[in-house]
Amino acid sequence: MTTKKTPKGGVSGRKRDVEAKASRKPAKKAALVKLKAKKEAAEAVVKKEQESRGRLKEILSDSLFTGYVSRTIGTGVEEMLDLLSAGPQIDEKISEKLGMKINEARRMLNALNGYGIVRYEVNKDKKGWLTFKWHIDQKAIVEFYKELGVNKNSSKGKLPDNCNDFFICNACYKTQKVIFPFEAAFEAEFKCECGKDMKMLDRSEALAFLNA
Ligand SMILES: [Zn+2]
Repeated sequence: MTTKKTPKGGVSGRKRDVEAKASRKPAKKAALVKLKAKKEAAEAVVKKEQESRGRLKEILSDSLFTGYVSRTIGTGVEEMLDLLSAGPQIDEKISEKLGMKINEARRMLNALNGYGIVRYEVNKDKKGWLTFKWHIDQKAIVEFYKELGVNKNSSKGKLPDNCNDFFICNACYKTQKVIFPFEAAFEAEFKCECGKDMKMLDRSEALAFLNA
């Protein structure tokens, strides 16, 4: 039998049977194929979700990451990200669950948003009030983490987008590689943990530090 040269007619008897059956019930076959494709797609989504959840867990438990964000945003940010890693949350709920003042929670969320690692969705509740539902941007947090990792041994870091005044401690920058956004420096009263005053940089100066 010359199966290779006859594409349709020369196929095996078993395949012919299948085709015969299928042609009798083409709709059923199409439905089955569709169902199978749907199932496979759903499985792929689940697998991808599991992978990204695993990756997120890895990032959130790495002191390189948590150290950087808690220094530049504030303590409590780790708990906030852990909470958000379980799913999107409205800021009122976040502050409630973390026992944090709403303004403080919003400040931290905005700071995280400055790095692009959390984003929000605006909705209207039943009374017509705007609500802000926050979530982690999985892709952005992975990118952010990669940059921190890549730059760990060089004089590079990461600047948030929503800030133009930055601060560093001349004494500690060499070892810590931390550039503080205005908010973080303000909270520390412009003093480094070592006791020295922080030095102010504008965005271009901060970028020069990053790229030095
Ligand atoms: Zn210092």
